[in-house]
Amino acid sequence: MRPFDYSRAATLEEAMAAGPGAALLAGGTNLLDLMKLDVARPASLIDIGHLPGLDRVEEAEGGLRIGALVPNADLARNTAVLARYPAVAEAVLSGASGQLRNAATTGGNVMQETRCSYFQDVLSPCNRREPGTGCGALGGVTRNHAILGWTEGCIATHPSDLCVALAAYDGVVEIAGPGGRREVPMESFHPLPDAEGAGPPPLARGEIITHVRLPECGAMARHARYVKLRERTSFAFAIVSAAAALDVREGRIMAARLALGGVAARPWRCREAEEALEGTAPGEDTFTAAVALSLANAAPSGDNAAKIVLAGRIAVLALSRAALGTPDRLPALPASVFEGDAP
Ligand SMILES: Cc1cc2nc3c(=O)[nH]c(=O)nc-3n(C[C@H](O)[C@H](O)[C@H](O)COP(=O)(O)OP(=O)(O)OC[C@H]3O[C@@H](n4cnc5c(N)ncnc54)[C@H](O)[C@@H]3O)c2cc1C
Ligand code: SF4
Repeated sequence: MRPFDYSRAATLEEAMAAGPGAALLAGGTNLLDLMKLDVARPASLIDIGHLPGLDRVEEAEGGLRIGALVPNADLARNTAVLARYPAVAEAVLSGASGQLRNAATTGGNVMQETRCSYFQDVLSPCNRREPGTGCGALGGVTRNHAILGWTEGCIATHPSDLCVALAAYDGVVEIAGPGGRREVPMESFHPLPDAEGAGPPPLARGEIITHVRLPECGAMARHARYVKLRERTSFAFAIVSAAAALDVREGRIMAARLALGGVAARPWRCREAEEALEGTAPGEDTFTAAVALSLANAAPSGDNAAKIVLAGRIAVLALSRAALGTPDRLPALPASVFEGDAP
């Protein structure tokens, strides 16, 4: 274990004053694991877990503003989230375990690191962990790696379920920092890799996520689902996942939202599919054709070509389940994708 300093921030200003080598500690479910693996080596931990005012979900101009310290478990059972953004609740419930969701926070979930096993193994080269060393995953085991937006600099995926649903709902990340406040759409918050590596970090030194804001989504609440394909029904990251929300009126899709998880270094918003679906009648053939447009540029980053097929099928399943309607009561653990169209 490497020695490190620990302090608890009482104000946002104290958290933003974090010096070089400092890391923000929220629930610790990702950061502490990475420290134990010797992947993260912070000289000091600034505990932000007690910052005031960031632990609640508030109304915001018809939408919701989620504080960065809202635990994943609280987010999934918040009545406003369940009623208006059910795919967010379903995405959170599909991740990790009950104990982890109690500790994990909204900001920490957004900022969690990739689950690339070469990143987690300090004996492997990794441009993300040590820029300029190369990518150990290239030519390796790439089951969890990208099929969209990757380069030979890095083929990792972002592992969050929550972020996929937030991106589908046009979520906005609110950031405070020494230079002031700024906002970034969830959809583009996580950088895509460049030729050399993982790309620039999403936050500058001293910056902190304070909230994620969800705009009003109206009728889409009645037709929204999150579907996740994984190796176990719980306690496993997505191989691929999809969040879908539809505004269906008189048998026609007025507007569609679709984002994929497990396919890229960020949640992948399927704009082409969304546009193609507008004005159509919901149906599997229509969904399949629309999703194909968004996967036209998908390419395997290794021996993971099957993920392209899986991503298409999971997206069509999410759209089909969304078209059937949001269930009155989301199950405590979302159903397996192998259980047909059962909610
Ligand atoms: C066994 C296991 C299974 C899991 N399965 C899933 C899964 O299926 N789906 C899924 O989505 N997730 C899964 N997770 C990941 C889990 O959701 C994350 O570990 C958790 O959300 C991180 O939140 P935290 O508050 O514990 O973050 P921490 O571990 O405290 O921090 C993580 C990172 O975020 C930074 N950070 C935290 N808060 C802020 C902030 N407000 N502003 C700026 N930076 C911040 C920290 O500095 C650190 O770099 C799993 C984790 C484990 C251990
Ligand atoms: S895919 Fe990215 S995170 Fe994984 S080893 Fe390559 S550079 Fe590192």
